Amino acid sequence: MLRNQVHRIIVGELETNCYLLWDRRDSALIIDPGAEGEKIEDEIISLALEPAAVILTHGHYDHIGAANFIAEAFSIPIFADEDEMEMLKNPEKNFSAFVGEPVVINANLLNRDVLKKLNIHLRLMKLPGHTRGSIGLLDEKFLICGDVVFAGGGIGRTDLPDANPYDLADSIEKILQLPDDIVIMPGHGGRSYIKKEREIWQQGVKMLREDLF
Ligand SMILES: [Zn+2]
Repeated sequence: MLRNQVHRIIVGELETNCYLLWDRRDSALIIDPGAEGEKIEDEIISLALEPAAVILTHGHYDHIGAANFIAEAFSIPIFADEDEMEMLKNPEKNFSAFVGEPVVINANLLNRDVLKKLNIHLRLMKLPGHTRGSIGLLDEKFLICGDVVFAGGGIGRTDLPDANPYDLADSIEKILQLPDDIVIMPGHGGRSYIKKEREIWQQGVKMLREDLF
């Protein structure tokens, strides 16, 4: 059986992790092409990948900046969660309006059937909190989770539009229930393991909840 492979490209000023994911080279996913479209395009070509779709973990500008460029370069659709559509269409909500060229993304609805059609074996996890429509992509070995959690006990910001700290706490708890050896691949910074991070995160969630009351 083929296994999903993942290649990380660090892009933009905020050093966003753009992930190329594939089990077959002719149906690769480009996850969070946040900036530096040409650099991403070069990597796709040098790995001999044929992209099938762009998938966005959430709508913040640093994760979507090169999405239209990549979608056009390879004539592929962009997918995101239904609860993220509003942010993707609103440059003030996705913050692109404040940092440079306003970005508007016309994304298609991401759901289980879409992943099936794309021939990718991934489970879709709804992980709201950092934004309303944040999602994770779960494999038997890894979780790509956008800005929900970071290695070293970091958790996503909840001071931005459409964020909700209660939802974020629930989403983190959902992640903590995954098997010990799942590799966490966040939207910024290095990777980690569930087991390694669980203790730190439990402490973090506790502090987050204490802050709320
Ligand atoms: Zn974000």
